[in-house]
Amino acid sequence: TTTPVTLPIGNQFASELPELAVPWQSDETPDPRLLVLNEALASELGLDADALRSADGLGLLTGTTVPPGATPVAQGYAGHQFGGYAPRLGDGRALLIGELTDREGRLRDLHLKGSGRTPFSRGGDGLAAVGPMLREYVVSEAMHALGVPTTRALAVVATGRDVRRETVLPGAVLARVASSHLRVGSFQYVAASGDVELLRRLADHAIARHHPAAAGAEHPYRALFEAVVAAQADLVARWMLVGFVHGVMNTDNMTISGETIDYGPCAFIESFDPGAVFSSIDTGGRYAYGNQPAAAEWNLARFAEALLPLLADDQERAVELAVESLGMFRSRYAASYSAGFAAKLGLTGADAALGDELLGLFHASHVDWTGGFRALSSAARGDTAPVRDLFIDLAGIDDWLARWRALDPDPALMDRTNPVHIPRNHLVEEALDAATAGEPDLVEQLVDVVRRPFEQRPGLERYAAPAPQDFGRYITYCGT
Ligand code: AMP
Ligand code: MG
Ligand code: MG
Repeated sequence: TTTPVTLPIGNQFASELPELAVPWQSDETPDPRLLVLNEALASELGLDADALRSADGLGLLTGTTVPPGATPVAQGYAGHQFGGYAPRLGDGRALLIGELTDREGRLRDLHLKGSGRTPFSRGGDGLAAVGPMLREYVVSEAMHALGVPTTRALAVVATGRDVRRETVLPGAVLARVASSHLRVGSFQYVAASGDVELLRRLADHAIARHHPAAAGAEHPYRALFEAVVAAQADLVARWMLVGFVHGVMNTDNMTISGETIDYGPCAFIESFDPGAVFSSIDTGGRYAYGNQPAAAEWNLARFAEALLPLLADDQERAVELAVESLGMFRSRYAASYSAGFAAKLGLTGADAALGDELLGLFHASHVDWTGGFRALSSAARGDTAPVRDLFIDLAGIDDWLARWRALDPDPALMDRTNPVHIPRNHLVEEALDAATAGEPDLVEQLVDVVRRPFEQRPGLERYAAPAPQDFGRYITYCGT
């Protein structure tokens, strides 16, 4: 077994892109205590779980022990936040420790969140609280199990330090694993500097790491852009299909890899509503459930702007090319969403009119997105009672069911496409409150449930049910 402190960890990003990397170190942790460890992910990375639990292991997971060869850095990036450009964001409470090579030979970033102030902290304290870091752990594990590309959580370690928010909260560091932390905002940061050679180096790094096929294309940077357009179109389609609302789709929170990143104010919808918003600061609904495809396309336009100097020497021509490539977003998104939607209905071919009608019926009767689709599996098997229980407009759903069942939907396909379990908002809050009060069992149980999302397991009915009425409107917060 590998002991974590001797773990081979690279500094490829820090050495290839020093202009975007400020060597830095994490804060000391007065009393580190492991709250959760992702043993499956540790094993993927070739890390020994017991070694990670040791004092040295906790040092690696909080950044107080730096493995030989690693150069921890705070990464610089810019970003459009709710449409307004911020030229200097960067890792204000995070550090990239370096790159690991996983068992399949892929490079994976090891990154810490909540590790103390950095030169990018501005007014922030550089810290993170136990609740929100466990929230990222739970929701990113759920997303991974649902088949949605995502950054992963390796561990959450309580630091023993207090964090001041509205109240005093226990502090924590999240160890996060990602195929990289390159963002649209990384390119915006470099583009704003006007250094085209640096922009080229960043683009080459992104191609090598995420979209190697672009290197052999006739126009590699255009191919890079199109690969990111495709990856993001597919990603957002998957969010929509599972009812995920990211909540803060700023350009600094959109990856070049196509993985979901930044589980701040995210939530899952219960009753289907395109206008669903959970984040306390998204008062205009910019990142509402139904606006997510448009928000992604807007962000990709900002990415295209940053890449313009690489697309063609003549900037007018570069704009033409960028517009043409960005045009692929809508068709790619539509194809990806409708293929996924067809699978949710147990069909091999998409039927847009039938799908839209169902969404109208869901909306009118405030049907729970997750429970509603799962109930349709029973209807595909001939038992329409669970579906009919959910709809107010019985004539409407009966008529729809008859036409859909005539297409011979495949219930087995539906069962592996429509989850029984998502991290329900009220259950996440209940588990985090308990963990913040020093009782981590509910988090462990919830993680166990969401890791097997497609399995109907006896005794877990509580985990499959929507929030009780008295849970009220769910509000989430960024940067806590
Ligand atoms: P986010 O909304 O989570 O994407 O964060 C936006 C920016 O705020 C990033 O540059 C973060 O590093 C920074 N940030 C968030 N919370 C803190 C904090 N507590 N201390 C310092 N910087 C922070
Ligand atoms: Mg962020
Ligand atoms: Mg965040």
